[in-house]
Amino acid sequence: MIHSYRNLSWKNHQELSKENIYAMLPVAAIEQHGPHMSVGTDDFIIEYILRRLEGDKAVIPEIYALPPIHYGLSHEHMDFCGTVTLTTATLASLMGDILSSLKQHGWKRLIILNSHGGNKGFLHGFAQEWKRRYGIDIYVIDTMHSIYYRCAETVMQTSPDEEVHAGEDETSQMLYEFPQTVDMGELEAYFDKKIAPLPLRKDSWMTSEVHPSGIIGGAHLATAEKGEKLTEFMCRSIIEQLNSLEN
Ligand SMILES: [Zn+2]
Repeated sequence: MIHSYRNLSWKNHQELSKENIYAMLPVAAIEQHGPHMSVGTDDFIIEYILRRLEGDKAVIPEIYALPPIHYGLSHEHMDFCGTVTLTTATLASLMGDILSSLKQHGWKRLIILNSHGGNKGFLHGFAQEWKRRYGIDIYVIDTMHSIYYRCAETVMQTSPDEEVHAGEDETSQMLYEFPQTVDMGELEAYFDKKIAPLPLRKDSWMTSEVHPSGIIGGAHLATAEKGEKLTEFMCRSIIEQLNSLEN
């Protein structure tokens, strides 16, 4: 079951036997999500999912969720106003401070729940260095995992490969989870409904080079009905990933 880390007193924390339990750190992003959605989209989605999963008995491991890191690595979106990015050095330093605090208090396992594609390479890449440095086992769980996409394919008109950013997938979820933050009317003026592919080999692509709207995917195909199903699939995918962790 997922519990709230910050609800516990120091005495409660001291009494926890850390042998078979996990701390969880959600990591999101504050970045442009097209002209029709808020810059908080990744942060909102992870907040919604966690609210739904907290206390759910379907989650087998005992997990204590820390308050999230709201910012992430969003360099690819910096051409769009409102995006706030950390550098890898800052995020590594912040993660190091959190890990060293957890280590001092006896935590042995940390799940990082990541809702932003731009954080993926960094988090997976650092896991082994963090293990060596802090002695804490690291499990990176991505909200956009293949388990999720296998289910999502059954309701989306676009393919998971086409759904890179602020498209049918995320827009549908936001129409269901936080409809007040979405304005589909803005799509008309800024989005030509062309689903632009990512460059085949260039890793340093910037979103503005791919599509001037900031959308990479089929945002115009989004509906709240699809969002309800996609939200359910995402929760189930996260539960399945959590339940596959070792006891
Ligand atoms: Zn996003």
